[in-house]
Amino acid sequence: MKTSFITLLMTILFCSCNSQTANSKKNNTMNDKSNQNPAYSTTDTSKVTLGNEAWRKILPKEIYEIAREKGTERAFTGKYWNTYDTGTYYCAVCGNPLFRSNGKFESSCGWPSFFEPITKGSLIYLPDNSYGMTRTEVECGRCKSHLGHVFEDGPPPSGLRYCINGNVLNFEKAQEANKIK
Ligand SMILES: [Zn+2]
Repeated sequence: MKTSFITLLMTILFCSCNSQTANSKKNNTMNDKSNQNPAYSTTDTSKVTLGNEAWRKILPKEIYEIAREKGTERAFTGKYWNTYDTGTYYCAVCGNPLFRSNGKFESSCGWPSFFEPITKGSLIYLPDNSYGMTRTEVECGRCKSHLGHVFEDGPPPSGLRYCINGNVLNFEKAQEANKIK
């Protein structure tokens, strides 16, 4: 008698737990990252200061390695290098709006390339002398995640080429981006 009561109780618990998972999965379809990542917000401008240990638990491996360990995806293998839809590119780590599609240009380099960010303050610029090269590293202005580099061989009007790892970007088409605002 006692055992069957426990079994019943466990069945109820298990079922309710399952339906909760199903519900939260449903809610997550709009934006997966925002619910699993407490720092992710496309409107909050306050700085994010989480350490790498915390990020390692939160971020998928392919994002963590680029964003937090300054990795680089192989050319033509990441996201958005050939995307030309109208919309906004956010930092995949924290949701900071970084680039708009009208600041993007077609580059044959295999990474999404932009000639200007949404605002200068969207990004942080740092000298990078690694691998025997003199480059300017670009980080997210809100969470200090590595995004890519900026070079001075871009098209007018800026003459700049922001060469960004697509896997650390999160693109939202114009209609969806407007809904959030
Ligand atoms: Zn960020």
